[in-house]
Amino acid sequence: MASLRLDIVTPDRLVLSREVDYVGAPGLEGEFGVLPGHVPLLAALTTGRLFYKADGRTNWVFVSGGFAEVAGGKVTILAESAEEAQSIDFERAEKARRRAKERIDSRRAEIDLHRALQSLARADVRLSLRGR
Ligand code: ATP
Repeated sequence: MASLRLDIVTPDRLVLSREVDYVGAPGLEGEFGVLPGHVPLLAALTTGRLFYKADGRTNWVFVSGGFAEVAGGKVTILAESAEEAQSIDFERAEKARRRAKERIDSRRAEIDLHRALQSLARADVRLSLRGR
């Protein structure tokens, strides 16, 4: 039977490398799924929740930006940042969320609104993985 290997890599580390049965990834143009035998694909990712199925379980991973490449029975995720749900520091994400909210609400001219909104989106997605 065809197999599928999932590698998730960030600029600082290899987050995960394992054999999986299915990957669901947050593409810039919508979520997409990858089963073994998938045709080659290159897709940009958005900040969101990636999941994979392995050993009868669904596992969740935070990913932010980057690309997914599917080729030769392998899914490679090259992300700006990524953490498995169980290694997310939720207190840190709550602080990041508060900081971003304060910046957005302050409406100060020197605030980079786009950057603050992206930071808020990362915090919200991380917090949505609590308990997963
Ligand atoms: P913060 O403001 O708390 O740094 P951020 O969204 O700006 O949050 P990123 O730029 O996405 O952080 O990530 C920087 C590094 O810190 C990455 O290695 C990322 O995996 C890690 N990281 C950030 N927030 C968390 C978190 N809540 N739990 C675990 N790792 C985190």
